[in-house]
Amino acid sequence: MKVGIPKEIKNNESRVGMTPAGVFELTKRDHTVYVQSTAGEGSGFFDADYIKVGATILPTIEEVYSQSEMIVKVKEPIASEYPLIKENQIVFTYFHFASCEPLTKAMIESKSICIAYETVEDSEGTLPLLTPMSEFAGRMAIQQGAKYLEKPIKGRGILLGGVPGVAPGKVLILGAGVVGVQAAKMAAGLGAHVTIMDINMKRLRYVNDVLPNHVTTAFSSEYSIRQLIKTHDLIIGGVLVKGGKAPKLITRDMLKDMRPGTVVVDVAVDQGGCFETTKATTHEDPTFIIDDVVHYCVANMPGAVPYTSTIALTNVTLPYILNIANKGWEEACATDASLDKGLNIVKGKIVYKEISEAFQLEA
Ligand code: NAD
Repeated sequence: MKVGIPKEIKNNESRVGMTPAGVFELTKRDHTVYVQSTAGEGSGFFDADYIKVGATILPTIEEVYSQSEMIVKVKEPIASEYPLIKENQIVFTYFHFASCEPLTKAMIESKSICIAYETVEDSEGTLPLLTPMSEFAGRMAIQQGAKYLEKPIKGRGILLGGVPGVAPGKVLILGAGVVGVQAAKMAAGLGAHVTIMDINMKRLRYVNDVLPNHVTTAFSSEYSIRQLIKTHDLIIGGVLVKGGKAPKLITRDMLKDMRPGTVVVDVAVDQGGCFETTKATTHEDPTFIIDDVVHYCVANMPGAVPYTSTIALTNVTLPYILNIANKGWEEACATDASLDKGLNIVKGKIVYKEISEAFQLEA
């Protein structure tokens, strides 16, 4: 199969659809790989790295789209890419159709085969191509939070791990899912005192089993949250109600109970956020302050570490890419139920119920 990797053109997206290691796996199976010139540079992979593993470098995005049977990307196509997508072309990327009607309509019109990373689902109901992004966000939440606790950036002036003779900082984590557990692990590794909350006792038991003893679990309720925010320096929001908006666990009035310079990192910002005061920020201007509380609410946290996140993405997408390239999309989907769940729009028809429901378009 002819596989194309265009350069991402969405604002501030430095990741690329595939690493040279992934390209190598395709070319050694006699597939052809076209990479747009400089596509990997933002992630630290150069044209020469791709040429070494057998890729052909093409100078323009138009050539990559026109010569490829399957396009492998990171982010959803943006408006200038819509006319480049051809009938019967496979596009494998994050689409998030339900949040973008123009994209949905454009892909219906293109008559392409749109396979969305975010709906590929394994037999246990987990989303293998989304989980790594939550792992990133959870780990980064502590890295960022620790930085914003520094005094010059208006934090409390606290070193999370403390030093001998001085107590460590205190981290409160709302939600013990993928984000929460990764955040707890990082914070505990730094030596911070960690409290992690959830409404799901199974998750709290799991955390209790796998994380060190200085990670305390607590059942999440408004009362317990109101108590704990008074004494914690860094508060991470990592809750998710599947298919719904994040519940507002920290209301505006609660900020006054926090100490000045407390840092809140709302990872759940992409689902509306679990702090009432959350508004989405960017890597260029990641924080704002309300009532002396520093808010960090970046909606695309993994985008700040494109080297690591491009490798992590290829690690999980590559088995599916190889399957599609080897068998063609129809046989690959027919023989792999997880990949089949990734089919969103096929040759002008929406085949994923939630998307047609979102826009009341015909499925
Ligand atoms: P997850 O489903 O693994 O975990 C969410 C947890 O929240 C669950 O354990 C659930 O029981 C818990 N929860 C629900 N209601 C709660 C409540 N009232 N109190 C306490 N806990 C509650 O989800 P995840 O993969 O960890 O993702 C968490 C959020 O992070 C999602 O909104 C996701 O979209 C977002 N996310 C953001 C970024 C970013 O860059 N900002 C990156 C990845 C993921």
